[in-house]
Amino acid sequence: MLPDFKEGVSFKIGNGARTSFWHDTWLGNASLASRFPLIFSLAANQTASVRDMCHLGDDSIPWHIETRRNLRDWELPVMLDLMDKLKNIQCNELEGDSWVWLKNKVGRFTVRSMYNSLLDKKFLIAGSRSIFPADVVWDNDLPTNIKLFFWTLLLDRTLTRQTLVRRGMQISPLCALCGVVQESSSHLFLHCSLVLQLWSKLLASEQETFLLLYSVDSMADWLSVWPVKSGNPLMVKVWSYLPYAVVWITWKFRNDKVFNEGMSDIHKMEQEVKGIIWYWCGNWLGRKQYHFRALIDDWGGVLAGSVVGNQTVVGIG
Ligand SMILES: [Zn+2]
Repeated sequence: MLPDFKEGVSFKIGNGARTSFWHDTWLGNASLASRFPLIFSLAANQTASVRDMCHLGDDSIPWHIETRRNLRDWELPVMLDLMDKLKNIQCNELEGDSWVWLKNKVGRFTVRSMYNSLLDKKFLIAGSRSIFPADVVWDNDLPTNIKLFFWTLLLDRTLTRQTLVRRGMQISPLCALCGVVQESSSHLFLHCSLVLQLWSKLLASEQETFLLLYSVDSMADWLSVWPVKSGNPLMVKVWSYLPYAVVWITWKFRNDKVFNEGMSDIHKMEQEVKGIIWYWCGNWLGRKQYHFRALIDDWGGVLAGSVVGNQTVVGIG
């Protein structure tokens, strides 16, 4: 095609019947087979038309790309990238595929569809500090990878099964831990029956806080209502890290179960929550006055602020 003509025209997908999903240049400047060779090599149907891949009417993202085997962990981002490119493309059963002359026809562009695709709800929330509690992520001394994890989580972009299904992945949406409820981030980290047991053990001496769990339905809300404690320095540190540690360890066990068929043992999760909190306390000089054993032997005392540091004990003795 002549460059001038190519600039002035755009391919417009209709019902997709006459366009090869993998081999024609119908989305972007090259065929999808050449832009996504990994996914193409795994595709169950390499000669599908666009229409074959587009399932109208069943949900908001109609694209289903069947693969010959389950994708590996490291292959998921490539699939998500492809899904992202497809997400705003809709087939139209009533029209044929066609070339559109851009100079005198604007096609079906509307301000509303543009607005919807650019500024989805999450983006609006993220842009507004007044309703998005960015400080619960950034204004703490957690390690950078943990901050990034929570940032993703608060934007609802953590790759829970619900998120993957929403992006067109063909997997079970059920929670990897309980297998009963859809695995949304609020379910997985707050309300999963298994994770509730973990919260309940760790908050056994903090019933009021534990009950708050039932009144929140998002991680942002949970971190916002998490009470602030002051006084005993070990208590303040441990308490401020606790919600982050539970979520992080839950994610770790969940992934271990998904990818390595690991077991979700509540007692082990509880120990690891305490372990990671102690580790995060590592850059706090005050930690030297305490022993990790206090978190294991007297967890209630730590949260109540009754565990005192060595120097104080020496002073009294
Ligand atoms: Zn669950």
